Amino acid sequence: MKNNHVTVLEIDLNAVKFNLNYFKSKLQENTQILVVVKAFGYGSDAVAIAKSIQNDVSYFAVAYTDEGIALRESGINTPILVLHPHIANLELDIQYCLEPNLYNEKILKSFLLLAKGKNLSQYPVHLKFNTGLNRLGFSENEIELISSTLKNQNYIKVKSIFSHMVASEDSNEREFTLKQIQSFERIISTFKNQLGYKPLIHMANTSGIINYQNAHFDMVRLGIGLYGFGNDPEETSKLRNVISLKSVISQIHTIEKGESVGYNRAYIADKITKTATIPIGHADGINRRLGQKVGYLQVNNQKAPIIGNVCMDMIMIDITNINCNEGDEVIIFDTQQNVEDLAQKADTISYELLTAVSQRVKRQIL
Ligand code: PLP
Repeated sequence: MKNNHVTVLEIDLNAVKFNLNYFKSKLQENTQILVVVKAFGYGSDAVAIAKSIQNDVSYFAVAYTDEGIALRESGINTPILVLHPHIANLELDIQYCLEPNLYNEKILKSFLLLAKGKNLSQYPVHLKFNTGLNRLGFSENEIELISSTLKNQNYIKVKSIFSHMVASEDSNEREFTLKQIQSFERIISTFKNQLGYKPLIHMANTSGIINYQNAHFDMVRLGIGLYGFGNDPEETSKLRNVISLKSVISQIHTIEKGESVGYNRAYIADKITKTATIPIGHADGINRRLGQKVGYLQVNNQKAPIIGNVCMDMIMIDITNINCNEGDEVIIFDTQQNVEDLAQKADTISYELLTAVSQRVKRQIL
């Protein structure tokens, strides 16, 4: 099969819709859905993804303010939660109608001061509680402090209270996750009493949606599953593939036994070998650990081992047993299985492989 572009990341928006509907079918009718589009939509194209589903979700979430600004500037009007705002960017959050996660006393008080200075009315903010991840979030014993800080003011309003699961994909950690859910429930009930109104409650990520039906609360936060990936092979087999990384064969060589391939002579042929050079390298996000026959690319549905070191702009593969020509399409990954397999070989996880695809790679929306 021919591919006229060089290296492309294809993004299938019909598959995005399909996957969104799949996860929606797991929710109660009134459970809302937030879609996480941080890191360029898990390495794909946040704007294209957000535009395609903006009328079907309640919220988007990004990690940082500038990611939210990019969505706003492309015309996305859906509420956007900024998961990890920096104090220096809170003004920009307001300017672009982005809703910050206020995760500690300092950022809560800074935002309140800012909101007061601008005489805002009920600006929506989100409070994150730490229930075990020990990353961001208030602790349970800070509820008093939050309540007294928020008392008798109308500048900001708590739109949601949330927490994040530590190991929702891991059945060995079920007991831990259930305890996490319990402590979150305790936090909610104490906090709700003090607040006097009911904010949205959310905790579950993709694996949480799948494995903890009773912890969907008012809203779920869907990330990796939307893109067709995840940790549960049975579940992901029901999803459609959204992201495919493809390239082409630039040049084919036949080398003799004893000849080497690539920098540092890392691969030495043990027989006459047909090699193909592919225009994608570690500058495009291909993990260097995949070199030297650890990883593979797919040519005409066959696995071609990566030989030699992954270069900045190129990879060489062994195509001795594959019938192919210069210009033929090469698939780096296109299905869940492939990504998980490559991730394992590179000693990493699918999230890292996906988000590593650099901005040099042309995004092609299908
Ligand atoms: N919620 C928060 C706070 C996150 O940081 C993430 C992703 O890292 C998600 C939800 C989505 O997680 P997943 O991609 O596993 O669905």
